[in-house]
Amino acid sequence: MEKTSLNCTKIWDKCLKIISDNLKNDNVYDTWFKPCVAIKCKSSALTISVPSPYFYEHLEANYIDLISFALRAVLGKDAELHYQVQIVETSTATYPTNPGIHVKNPPMPFPNKNLKQLNPFIIPGLQKMEIDPQLNPNKTFGNFVESDCNRLARSTGLAIAEEPGKGTFNPMFVYGGSGLGKTHLVQAIGLAIKCKFPEKIVLYISASMFQNQYIDAQIHKNNLNDFLTFYQLMDVLIIDDIQEFAGREGTQNIFFQIFNHLHQAGKQLILTSDRAPVDLSGLTERLLSRFKWGLTVELQVPNFEARKAILKKKMYNDGIEMSDEIIEYIASKVTTNIRELEGVFTTLNAESVYNTNKSRRVITIEMAMNIIDRLVNSTKREISIDKIKRIVCDYFGLSLDTIYSKIRKREIVQARQIAMFFARNMTKHSLSSIGAEIGGKDHATVLHACKTVEDLSDTDKTFKQHITEIEKRINNSL
Ligand code: ADP
Ligand code: MG
Repeated sequence: MEKTSLNCTKIWDKCLKIISDNLKNDNVYDTWFKPCVAIKCKSSALTISVPSPYFYEHLEANYIDLISFALRAVLGKDAELHYQVQIVETSTATYPTNPGIHVKNPPMPFPNKNLKQLNPFIIPGLQKMEIDPQLNPNKTFGNFVESDCNRLARSTGLAIAEEPGKGTFNPMFVYGGSGLGKTHLVQAIGLAIKCKFPEKIVLYISASMFQNQYIDAQIHKNNLNDFLTFYQLMDVLIIDDIQEFAGREGTQNIFFQIFNHLHQAGKQLILTSDRAPVDLSGLTERLLSRFKWGLTVELQVPNFEARKAILKKKMYNDGIEMSDEIIEYIASKVTTNIRELEGVFTTLNAESVYNTNKSRRVITIEMAMNIIDRLVNSTKREISIDKIKRIVCDYFGLSLDTIYSKIRKREIVQARQIAMFFARNMTKHSLSSIGAEIGGKDHATVLHACKTVEDLSDTDKTFKQHITEIEKRINNSL
């Protein structure tokens, strides 16, 4: 029996009450449940309207147990939930029903085809579908601190945001190690485009999610066309961590089709990877050659100044205070990547609040030391200065004695400086003990050596390669 719309609203309201009582966080309720409206209820099947395919995906993936609990409590054990996705302009399309038990396959932000329904993409007159771009609103350009390590990538991103698909930066290929800001940067580009051109269809997706969707679409053969059509609708397609496609030929082939279609249509592609295109083994040559059509930019490990600037920015954003001494201490100890830097900062910030009776504790250098010890140092086995000296000498083909000698030949001085640099960044020894162990120098010489190595790494590519390789050898020895 078809219940009236008043009835179905009442039923949904009862469900919502149970849902909100069981959610710990009001924001979740406001964001994901409030916008959903009951449309009809037939027998024990309730249909709700959701604002976008992503809502459907998100609800199914995260709250299905709670939703089904609420539905059964209100409608009995045979309760079913149907979704209807609102489509901008004229039409709506009904989505597959899920009795609210669980989702077997990874959720998709594109619609599965309900066989009884027309494919939403070919409904005549359908102009645009509301597609959640899946961007994190905090990952803006404003929050992305500029430094020498990311200047080119950042300015390219800004140029693309002005004219997506128009310039020569298509595709934009961003690469760099983990935690260096690839995801943040490409999300910032997506956000800036959405802000300037709200009508453009922008989608951020991780390569592994794309891969899961493709596999899912293959299993349900009818969905392959939907999959392709959905991705070909994009004005801006951002795929993160493309190295995940390695060895996955099927995914690479379908992505190749999508790439060609979008590129020919003047749509923007933005890709990230943890390594440069030349190092992407397991990707087909034809795909790699397309990556080189546009612009490839690298995000590098932030130097000391950049690390300080990032900490200051975070401090400013969170409205907390830390002395320069503490900032410099953290920046000198947390050298690997920005994610780790953020981890230390967030913990420090939290501890300064939680360990108090209401008023905020002043952040001290001891707190910073403790946290770095716990978060950074404890995850790595300590390396000895001696081991560092051996690895550096070995790398340059020098005997260990030369490092103690008074010889001032350039390559020996440099090896000494490099050993000091790593000893400072990778051990807990004081500057003077490092100096004493590496050539009997004082603490000022060690400081000077560290600065020289950082400066050279920034300006001299070959030198930087030496540093990267030595760092790798040290890490491998742990
Ligand atoms: P990746 O994708 O390269 O592994 P992310 O983009 O996830 O790295 O960055 C790790 C963390 O560091 C994120 O929280 C990000 O917001 C932050 N971050 C990265 N680069 C910057 C930057 N230049 N300024 C401020 N925060 C940054
Ligand atoms: Mg990332």
